[in-house]
Amino acid sequence: MSYPDFQPTLPCARALDAADPLHRFRSEFHFPPHAGGQAIYFCGNSLGLQPRRVADAVQVELKAWQDLAVGGYFGGTNPWLYYQDYCKQPLADIVGAQVQEVTVMNALTVNLHLMMLSFYRPTATRYKIMMEAGAFPSDQYAVETQVKHYGFDPADAIIEIAPRPGERLLRREDILDAIALHGDSLALTMFSGMNYYTGQLYDMAAITAAAHQAGALAGFDLAHVAGNVPVQLHEWDVDFAVWCSYKYLNAGPGAVGGVFVHEKHASNVQLGRLGGWWGNEEKTRFRMEKGFVPKADASGWCLSTSQVFNTVCLKASLELFAEAGMDRLRQKSIQLTAYLEFLLRQLNHLSFEIITPADPAERGAQLSLYFHEHGRQIHDKMIECGIIVDYREPGVIRVAPAPMYCSFEDVYRFYEILKEHF
Ligand SMILES: *Cc1c(COP(=O)(O)O)cnc(C)c1O
Repeated sequence: MSYPDFQPTLPCARALDAADPLHRFRSEFHFPPHAGGQAIYFCGNSLGLQPRRVADAVQVELKAWQDLAVGGYFGGTNPWLYYQDYCKQPLADIVGAQVQEVTVMNALTVNLHLMMLSFYRPTATRYKIMMEAGAFPSDQYAVETQVKHYGFDPADAIIEIAPRPGERLLRREDILDAIALHGDSLALTMFSGMNYYTGQLYDMAAITAAAHQAGALAGFDLAHVAGNVPVQLHEWDVDFAVWCSYKYLNAGPGAVGGVFVHEKHASNVQLGRLGGWWGNEEKTRFRMEKGFVPKADASGWCLSTSQVFNTVCLKASLELFAEAGMDRLRQKSIQLTAYLEFLLRQLNHLSFEIITPADPAERGAQLSLYFHEHGRQIHDKMIECGIIVDYREPGVIRVAPAPMYCSFEDVYRFYEILKEHF
């Protein structure tokens, strides 16, 4: 069933759930309780729900620590020495990478800095970074402080691409034209794959090709993409990407971050970087000698001992992604968000606009609803009614039905509450 057959009825929502091959994954998650039942959780773009299997997975490592102590690095079910490696294959599948192009370490903003240290190499004439206007604040701060670090003025060295006057979304051609226009001075394009506020998904393949054409490198922040929309980072020739694991990847607050470094760079051990012992060849790591020898893959950027308790929840959560498959998740997500959009369009007495692109190819799970007035009060009322969504000034309620655990019935119940209360 798809758009022409959608009905604003509970039987329709239940029929969609019955036909959904991923419906059973819902029972793999803890939902926050509400009024004797479960809340409707549309905030997986901010913090994904806890997979039920996480508690056991944590227990395994606690037990290894109890019983083996330092022996846990080499013994036990999952020797800690290799802990970062356990996430590589499932993450590579999620972001369209080869296994040696992916690693987990630190957290998103830290990794953004580490990647820029390797891939933002400003010269006197080629020193500018291009990003979207209204990028996530942490990304803005990271880029601002990087250019300052090299003695440049952010007002000159950062090129922000904004929507045209009166528009809310970036046009693909405007991004590509700007890259060509600034080509000679451009060192790096540093867009998010998807804007956190509007939910707009950018054409990463086209941005990367245009950056390369101009002689620049292309990096992406995939915080809102990883586990939401399938991407092909290797094939698109993206130079590097970073993401967090606590949004659509459901690995819990503060979970370890993810990094992609394209094979052509990852295999180059001469490439400059900041080093630490965990990025060093295992063969020589424990000789404790002078001379950093990075691993010839993305983990050559790791610095510290793997953060087992920051990674164990991701490891457990990724099992679910491997079972569900990104392609099936995306198929469901397109339909689930289309159903949400269809139901929202029935509520024409409410004064809001959906600022997220209408084309499914230009968005993921999230729809951003811009309320011309009373946005904050409407958000608070939703929370009171057991709908967990978030609010961003001025007036935007972000609604993100994550396909891993949200159902068509959730979307229908959301609509019913809106219809009844507003
Ligand atoms: C969520 C998010 C972050 C958060 O960064 P942390 O370092 O994990 O706190 C950064 N950038 C974007 C685009 C995000 O969506």
